Formats: sequence, C-alpha cells, structure tokens
Amino acid sequence: MMIRAGLVGLGKIARDQHLPAIDKVDGIALVAVASRNAQAEGVQNYPDLGAMLAGEPDLDAVILCQPPQVRYATARQALLAGKHVFLEKPPGATVSEVEALTALARQKNGTLYASWHSRYAAAVAQAKSWIADRKVERIDIQWREDVRHWHPGQPWIWEAGGFGVFDPGINALSILTEIVGEPITLLSAELEVPSNKQAPIGATLGMATASGAAIDTVFDWRQTGPQTWDIAVETDNGSLLLSEGGNTLRLDGEVQMKAPDEEYPAMYRRFVDLVERRAIDVDTAPLRLVADAFLCGRHCPTAAFED
Ligand code: NAP
Repeated sequence: MMIRAGLVGLGKIARDQHLPAIDKVDGIALVAVASRNAQAEGVQNYPDLGAMLAGEPDLDAVILCQPPQVRYATARQALLAGKHVFLEKPPGATVSEVEALTALARQKNGTLYASWHSRYAAAVAQAKSWIADRKVERIDIQWREDVRHWHPGQPWIWEAGGFGVFDPGINALSILTEIVGEPITLLSAELEVPSNKQAPIGATLGMATASGAAIDTVFDWRQTGPQTWDIAVETDNGSLLLSEGGNTLRLDGEVQMKAPDEEYPAMYRRFVDLVERRAIDVDTAPLRLVADAFLCGRHCPTAAFED
C-alpha cells in the first residue's frame, strides 16, 4: 500500500527534514501541502487543512508541522475526517489535548503517531541497551544552544504554549525517557523568563529515577560558539556520554559510534509501519516532564531578549 499524505505547515522543519525524508522512504508519498503562506513544488497546494481535505478525498494521512499551539485543532479535524495523523514534536501544547487526540484516534481506529525525532538519533538504541545492564547512579544533561541561530523569526516559540527553551530541551527529555528503563520524576525547576517574553530562555531541572539516581539538567538558549547537546550517565559499571543530540556515543571516554543524522527517514519508516497496523504510538512522558516543570517551577525573571 502507498500512503497518500498531505502536510500542514510548510515551514523550517517541513522543508529541512520532512520533504526529503518522505522522498527517501518507501510506502508513503506526499500528494498535497496546506500552508497559508508557502507552496511546495510538484504537489497540490491548499491554504488550510479544510481545503486540502475537501480537494483530496483519497488522502490517507496528514502530517502536522505547525507550531504546537495550533496543532490540536488540525489533528482533531484530520482524525475526525478518518485520516491517520503524524504529529511533529511536541505532540501538543498541553498534555490534556494529546490525551484527547489519543482517545479520538482509538475511537476512529486510526493511527496517531507522536514523533520524537531525537529518539531516532544513531546512538540512542545502543545507549539504551548498555544502560539496561547497569545501575544508573547519576545523570547530567547539558542542552545549550544559540536561539538566534536556530529559531530566528519564530515569535510563536516565545509565546505561551511555545515552550521557549523546552522546544529543544524536550528532545533531551525524549532521549532520557527512552534510555532509562524506569519512571522519572521532576523534583524542582527554575525557569528564567525574559521580561518581554512568555516562555523561558533558560531552565534548570532537578529530577530523579524511581530508584533514586539524581538527574541534573540545564537547558540554555544563550550559548554562542560551539553548541552542546550532551547526556552523561554514570553507572555502577562505567560511564556513558551521548553527545551531538544522540548521534555520538562514548563509553568510558572511548568513542563507540559517530553517525550522521538519519532521524526523519527512520520516523517515516515507523509511521508507515504504524499505518499498516492502524496502531497508535503516543508517549507523553517527555511532555509530562515539561508540564511538571511549568507546574512546580520557580519563575526567575531575567533580562529582556531581542532577536
Ligand atoms: P516554523 O517554520 O516557524 O512554522 C512552521 C509553519 O507553520 C510555518 O511556516 C507556518 O506556515 C505555519 N504556522 C506558523 N505559525 C502558525 C500559526 N500561528 N497558525 C498556523 N500555522 C502556523 O516552525 P518550525 O521550525 O518548522 O517548527 C514547527 C514544529 O516543528 C515545532 O513544533 C518544532 O518544535 C518542530 N521542530 C522544529 C525543528 C527545527 O529545527 N526548526 C526541529 C524539530 C522539530 P504558513 O504560514 O505557510 O501557514
């Protein structure tokens, strides 16, 4: 079966990753795009999802790449129309809307896929199996990048529901919750919110595994120069460092794996498989930790930020 897919929100991630990945993967083809201000070549273009659904009655699946604040309404509309749905990360702006979508997908017997691209980084699976044989004693996460470089001209990211520094930070949490085989709880959070913004530019989280290992986490958007996306794990039998967002693995300081980013093709292969089985894959664990940080975090106002 060839899945006929339509994509909503033709912006940075759609162009950088989704279009090339769909091209690469068997079993799925892009037939239409719905975007208010952009058009893709070689497919039908529509101003919004409603027009796309009306114009493409044979569409099987809808891929949602808009900012999180507007994703729920379109995901619901697509599921109600009987389409399978691929959600970019984060799967929504709130936990409750993602749970409502999951219930709706079940009711409609459709596929709902909450994608977490960082879980498909090259070294994540190997890190997970290495940790599975050991007792975790301590985890340190440093996710530091330059917001001006990665998110220029994206006002939504600074608005309520835009996640601020948790937009990249949730990628670290998606890896963390994948590689550690036990529940993780949030103990404390400090959120640095610029005086002219609604979302944090920096965050420090204290978490712990169920068996008591401390997880210290720093997310910071003010890093210039080299960027840092590191997860360091100390265990009773050696240490592990995942760097470059999960694409490089060091065990006891020795590089074991360094591989290029192939996250999006892997996600599309997963989506094709889910659609064939009409299965649901929605793990809200990373989103819950972010929600908990907003629930119990201490707010520390900081200097105004201008792009
Ligand atoms: P973006 O380029 O700013 O937005 C994507 C598109 O969504 C825009 O081009 C716009 O298309 C549409 N859009 C923007 N605001 C909207 C609104 N208020 N209502 C309806 N549509 C709106 O953002 P992006 O970087 O692609 O990120 C989109 C999602 O992908 C986010 O959830 C982000 O976390 C995730 N993501 C991004 C990256 C990355 O490197 N940028 C990486 C992984 C995941 P039209 O104006 O044409 O409708």
